[in-house]
Amino acid sequence: MSPQTTQTTQSTEPIELARHYGTPLYVYDLDRVRAARADLFGWLPEGFEVFYAFKANPHTDLVRALRTGEGPACKAEISSTGELAAALEAGYPGSDILYTGPGKTSGELAEAIGQGVRTFSAESLSDLRHIGETAVAHGTEVDCLLRINSATASATTSIRMTGTPTQFGIDSETIAELAPQLLSVPGTRVAGLHLFSQSNARDEEALIGELTHTIEAAAEIQRELGVPLRLLDIGGGFSVPYAQQGGRDSYPKLRVELEASLDTHFPTWREGTPRLAVESGRYLSGDSGTLVTQVSNVKVSRGKKFVIVDAGINTFGGMSGLGRLLPVSVHVEADAETEKANLVGPLCTPGDVLGRQIEVPAGLASGDLLAIPNTGAYGPTSSLLMFLGRPAPVEVAVAGGEVVSATRIEHVRTPTSAGGRP
Ligand SMILES: *Cc1c(COP(=O)(O)O)cnc(C)c1O
Repeated sequence: MSPQTTQTTQSTEPIELARHYGTPLYVYDLDRVRAARADLFGWLPEGFEVFYAFKANPHTDLVRALRTGEGPACKAEISSTGELAAALEAGYPGSDILYTGPGKTSGELAEAIGQGVRTFSAESLSDLRHIGETAVAHGTEVDCLLRINSATASATTSIRMTGTPTQFGIDSETIAELAPQLLSVPGTRVAGLHLFSQSNARDEEALIGELTHTIEAAAEIQRELGVPLRLLDIGGGFSVPYAQQGGRDSYPKLRVELEASLDTHFPTWREGTPRLAVESGRYLSGDSGTLVTQVSNVKVSRGKKFVIVDAGINTFGGMSGLGRLLPVSVHVEADAETEKANLVGPLCTPGDVLGRQIEVPAGLASGDLLAIPNTGAYGPTSSLLMFLGRPAPVEVAVAGGEVVSATRIEHVRTPTSAGGRP
């Protein structure tokens, strides 16, 4: 797909690209994606593996950038047949793919196994059995990581995913009792554990606290299972601002702390038993992205200024319904005058708000372009793309000062026959 759209004479500056391709427009700088990958591997002990969570941004060129070029390559963490297709298109071999998710259907399991995926995260005993049944039907046996819903946690984070009743993972306090059943499901080998307890950690202390706690919890579960682990995925929480100014977090103490914890709890980890992995979406993709949106209209209502732009929650921040991701900040030149305004999208719902009373350049008018930084993660595919039927944004990937591709997701209604899709 990429070569035909390569253009060499053009600026790769987001505002210039928006003038050329129109808005709303995402620009992903693949050089920044690779820099984030190098930094993340650098923060971790030697030999750690990194799974990229496709959920954050499955754009083909972006995920390809995470497995090509210098330095260690990322592996893929996926959770649907759409993400599977994206991983395969970007060249990830089945052996580098971890398939996760609480609602895996037999259709999608069959597709994944048929395409060579051999590692799955099992979220319950029944999920493990479903995986096994499909593997047996394909005449094969697959590695499974038991996803654990740990009863304890160390840090407070923005998105807690463990310790409470949830569809994710097997309750840690039930492992000892379930062990004989978990270890004897035909078509599966229990290869290790998967613990993902936080997203977007507050700071390095919180991240280290949670990850070392996870290592300790995993050692306890290994004892209860009574079998050695081959792969331990300790989750993530690596952080980057979301649609705000600023850079990725840094983790100068992480490596030493993880090594110390692993030496205590998994003394043979340096020889590769178990292999260690983390997973990350936003840290790897977040700061590569800039969203450019055009002002459609400006109005005043009861003394408040509303700047109405063409990127609403159909384009960006659709997850704001969860009440934790917005407001955004827009790029303002250092010496520019600013004023406060409500930044809203074009949709016919009062919920289409990107930010209330945020600083914007003074005197905005129809046609002006605004750039929103750090929007490479949780952009188009986590937004309400089809709501109100506006076209999806253009997505442009750039690298080395050149445009690599310019594409747009299309929704097309087509006739379908009985049976549906995986
Ligand atoms: C969402 C998710 C991730 C990625 O989270 P980020 O905060 O983007 O790094 C990783 N692992 C699992 C299991 C997830 O659900």
